[in-house]
Amino acid sequence: MISASGVNKYFGDLHVLKEIDFEVPRGQVVVVLGPSGSGKSTLCRAINRLEPINSGEIQVDGKPLPSEGKALAALRADVGMVFQQFNLFAHKTIVDNVTLAPQKVRKVSSSEARKTAMELLERVGIANQAEKYPAQLSGGQQQRAAIARALAMRPKVMLFDEPTSALDPEMVQEVLDTMTGLADEGMTMLVVTHEMGFARRAAHRVVFMSDGEIVEDSTPEDFFSAPKSERAKDFLGKIL
Ligand code: ATP
Ligand code: MG
Repeated sequence: MISASGVNKYFGDLHVLKEIDFEVPRGQVVVVLGPSGSGKSTLCRAINRLEPINSGEIQVDGKPLPSEGKALAALRADVGMVFQQFNLFAHKTIVDNVTLAPQKVRKVSSSEARKTAMELLERVGIANQAEKYPAQLSGGQQQRAAIARALAMRPKVMLFDEPTSALDPEMVQEVLDTMTGLADEGMTMLVVTHEMGFARRAAHRVVFMSDGEIVEDSTPEDFFSAPKSERAKDFLGKIL
């Protein structure tokens, strides 16, 4: 579903993605781990073409990333993205946040969009918050609204960049449960997270990045029980 080969990205002189090769096959959950500044967010943003790359190729669903126009809008519609900051529209209700893009981009009717939105809000457990504004919800509820909003586009793949890092500890689990549910339903997911429980439980593979490189790409069992590189051992030593 996602494949990257020989990807390089520079910010000025800084080489932040170094010959990145990896794949997220359809239906798999790949968790990306690594220290701060290792390039995890840049990799996520490159897949959505929020960041252009300098060389190499990224494909989504068998097609190279388009650089502009309708094709780029179509790519972004197929790739759902959930960030650390929920980025909900503050002046719109929760249900309106969820119906907006399907109506604008997918040309879904407003009644159909609303029906789907309510189903999705039900699924993430916040249907009773539909008519509220984002500021009236807890962080965990807002992040679940952001997930529902991404799902409303019927994406082929979901990217999560530290979706629980900005949450108070007691709200982390409700968001992880929502993500685990998605994974169990077979959604293709690339997840940057420091939540090792989620990685163990839901990931098919763990990709460990350090200093712009993919240093390890293995099953969670292998990665957590027998990391091969010093860099991964060092990282695990600090967080576990
Ligand atoms: P964190 O765990 O802190 O979120 P990360 O692994 O997501 O880190 P990135 O945000 O991808 O790391 O950053 C990789 C490197 O690129 C860092 O050295 C960062 O300072 C640099 N960088 C990121 N965005 C930019 C930018 N827009 N301009 C210049 N440098 C940038
Ligand atoms: Mg980041």
